[in-house]
Amino acid sequence: MRDRRDLEELLRRIDGRGYPAYKDLDRRYDLGDFELRIDHVQGDPFASPSRLRVIVDQAVAGFGPRDMATRARTRALCDLLCRAFGRQAARAWERRGSGKSGVVDMARPGQEVLERSAVLVDEGQIEARFVVGLPARGRRVLGRQAAAMLCEDLPGIVARSLCRDALDEDEIVRHLDAVEDAVALRGGLRERGLVAFVADGAVLPRRTGVDDRPMEESAVPFRSPESLRVAFELPHAGRVEGMGIPEGVTLIVGGGYHGKSTLLRALERGVYDHLPGDGRELVVTVPEAVKIRAEDGRSVAGVDISPFIDRLPMGRDTRSFSSADASGSTSQAAGIVEAVEAGARLLLLDEDTSATNFLIRDHRMQELIRKDAEPITPLLDKVRQLHLELGVSTILVMGGSGDYFDVADTVVAMEAYLPWDATGQARRIAERFVAGRTSEGGDRFGSVADRRPLRRSLDPRRGRRDVSLKVRGIDTIVFGKDEIDLAAVEQLVDACQTRAIAEALESLRRHLDGETTLAEVLDRVEAELDAGGLDAVQSRPAGDLARFRRFELAAALNRLRTLQVRC
Ligand code: ADP
Ligand code: MG
Repeated sequence: MRDRRDLEELLRRIDGRGYPAYKDLDRRYDLGDFELRIDHVQGDPFASPSRLRVIVDQAVAGFGPRDMATRARTRALCDLLCRAFGRQAARAWERRGSGKSGVVDMARPGQEVLERSAVLVDEGQIEARFVVGLPARGRRVLGRQAAAMLCEDLPGIVARSLCRDALDEDEIVRHLDAVEDAVALRGGLRERGLVAFVADGAVLPRRTGVDDRPMEESAVPFRSPESLRVAFELPHAGRVEGMGIPEGVTLIVGGGYHGKSTLLRALERGVYDHLPGDGRELVVTVPEAVKIRAEDGRSVAGVDISPFIDRLPMGRDTRSFSSADASGSTSQAAGIVEAVEAGARLLLLDEDTSATNFLIRDHRMQELIRKDAEPITPLLDKVRQLHLELGVSTILVMGGSGDYFDVADTVVAMEAYLPWDATGQARRIAERFVAGRTSEGGDRFGSVADRRPLRRSLDPRRGRRDVSLKVRGIDTIVFGKDEIDLAAVEQLVDACQTRAIAEALESLRRHLDGETTLAEVLDRVEAELDAGGLDAVQSRPAGDLARFRRFELAAALNRLRTLQVRC
């Protein structure tokens, strides 16, 4: 393998030449403490930066078996190293010419600790994937600047971020322990009959609507009502207490601006593990928790929404409902059925983002508009069936209608950001003030039919390219010629997840044979990711993917406007 001197020599030689001279770089260099791999060289200084990797032997990096004792610890370690590399890269960043010249960057994690393709660790080595803007003035190679970046800055970044000695031991332990505790806590919910847990002392509000870090001074720490308090024994934090939300139907009620939606949002994110100091480290939900909201305008392909919507005008079939422009209520009904099809065990809904006519239909309205003229059966009349027949629990933020008292197992009231247990009181009120409405839910929810996606309806081609995938931010995938809008998929938290979903949509096509059900396809993708990591869904080694859940992959597939299914 070529070494550092070869690299410096080459960069000196191409100094001042046209940008394509960078293509003369070899693929691998031994830089002493680590190996540098050059996977992709950008076409010009304004194009997406070049993709590089470093591979550091554990003899140099110094991480050992106890840092990787469990999958959770390994994931947390990779996350920590990714953040450390990013910090050092930002410090070393220097503008070194035109366009992206001088950029050194790695995926930038937010508050969640996700499995990523940016840093991979095993007992033998660390592999870190990042991008570099190879420097140029105009389109002329700046060889000396490139040599300074790759032969001086980069070894410094590696030494200060990927080597155990350079990191703070306490920080490593805290980071790994926090993630392992959250995983243990989440794993302990089911046997206790719980779907969620919020620890005493947790900080739920965020700094702003666009800043996911914890609110600072004025945050009121969470405190469980006595009657809902449960305790867990965690591997590192020891005994923790907090509010356990039991399976079944739970309402979060309370006055406007008293913290209902903030609690629900923390629960939505409880499927992920959080950084120490986030405030939500010990806020967890079962992994199969899915946020459902209204999303008028979305497309729907062959979903049986008949439990909620029946007898549409013009005799449209709702057992296999398709629409290029769903309404608020039909989109929300489809969202629930799709989530259950994908394996959801907990639905999270907020009145703020729901269609009112999907949630409620009160006595007076039942008198005015008879059932045979109303296609919608409100969730109110289905939410218990979902639990009793399908084992799917619901947590619903509902400040506006007491009709739900009749169907709730648990009622949590938020008052000045603190919860109290209003279950008994709500039950007494329900007995005293009878809602007077007629239940419209029928006897059963019925089963959720399997759908079989058709391969030809997923076409990644565009122009002359066989596969064209583009991702813009967290919310948009352009799959071939079709744009998938994920803005309403609220449990997506990172653009790297979106990119991974785009890759997965392409790679899952091979499973689509008209027989394999959507749920089976999701199983297979998850098995591939569990066995092979994120590289299982991508053809190139890049650091910009993060692990997504089956529910968000299903959400993307379900929003592909060309999707066709066989039922
Ligand atoms: P609701 O859904 O009940 O109307 P929100 O959850 O939207 O209320 O909260 C209203 C405001 O209160 C938000 O700006 C939020 O950041 C803030 N807030 C929520 N929980 C807390 C808390 N525990 N401490 C301090 N502020 C909070
Ligand atoms: Mg709200």
